[in-house]
Amino acid sequence: MTETIKIRRPDDMHLHLRNVPEAAAFARASALSFARAVVMPNTLPPVTTPGRVERYREEISAAAPGFTPLMTFKLVPGMGAKEIEALSRAGALAGKYYPANATTNAEDGVPSPESVAKALGEMERLGLVLSIHGELPTAFCLDREAAFLPVLEGIAEAHPDLKIVFEHVSSREGLAAVLALPRNVAATVTVHHLLFTLDDIAGGALSPHFFCKPILKRPEDRDALQRAVLSRNPKLFFGSDSAPHPIKRKEGPKAPGGIFSAPAALPLLAEFFVGAGKVDAFEDFVSRFGAEFYGLEPNEGQITLVREPWRVPDEIAGAAPLLAGSTLSWSLA
Ligand SMILES: [Zn+2]
Repeated sequence: MTETIKIRRPDDMHLHLRNVPEAAAFARASALSFARAVVMPNTLPPVTTPGRVERYREEISAAAPGFTPLMTFKLVPGMGAKEIEALSRAGALAGKYYPANATTNAEDGVPSPESVAKALGEMERLGLVLSIHGELPTAFCLDREAAFLPVLEGIAEAHPDLKIVFEHVSSREGLAAVLALPRNVAATVTVHHLLFTLDDIAGGALSPHFFCKPILKRPEDRDALQRAVLSRNPKLFFGSDSAPHPIKRKEGPKAPGGIFSAPAALPLLAEFFVGAGKVDAFEDFVSRFGAEFYGLEPNEGQITLVREPWRVPDEIAGAAPLLAGSTLSWSLA
């Protein structure tokens, strides 16, 4: 029986730290598991200028020494080539496409790909990654990802050299579309879409801590994601989409979407890959494929996970981590 796993230090290719006093504690929580993280720009105010890219990076680096934030900016209508070039010079690696009103702080998002066509062309030219929240917000909640796919396919066709990450793929339809598109289109997979379903939110007592966008789907969707990840496809890599919100808000009448999954992600993934008899696929998924897609050197050093019970803390800086208070069978050494 596998008792210890040593892997290259992993990357989280999709992380929300928000822009709140607690962000420092959230960054330190991620740094326990991950060497680097692609930090999402839908803060208040959003990361849309070179100055904000630089300041946000400095804040995170100061809060969590040794943890490398990989910076992104939020695409907004009317951005042109000049703005994109300046954002790239400030060190941004990716631009995030939020369809208007699709998720938290996306009211000022992109109404149509045409409204950011010039920006996409410049990102393609510079080799920046287009990171997409792929949901059509006017569709029924379970169908929003599938309804967005024509937009994804249209962007991929119009920009054949643009690196595109379809973030937090959650449905069979979304997965099939990403796998059918050329090599420059990949997807992040979260630990919650890989292991849980809508039943975990609403199948028993209502569990707002499992509520996120895109919403958790059917067992068939979860199973398709599991098979695809276990197949070691370099188009699929780990991005937690960890998004901490105050417990009071998550348990209130208007719970925001977002699961604070970063603290429990690696122990849960270790259990999943060991259980499937595919320990080798674990390192590819969390430490290799994402860096390769972004064109980054792999991290130096290793982390060790051990088969020892670990109780997930009840809260970290006022937010409840995924499976808070439960005991997992793997832990970080
Ligand atoms: Zn996200």
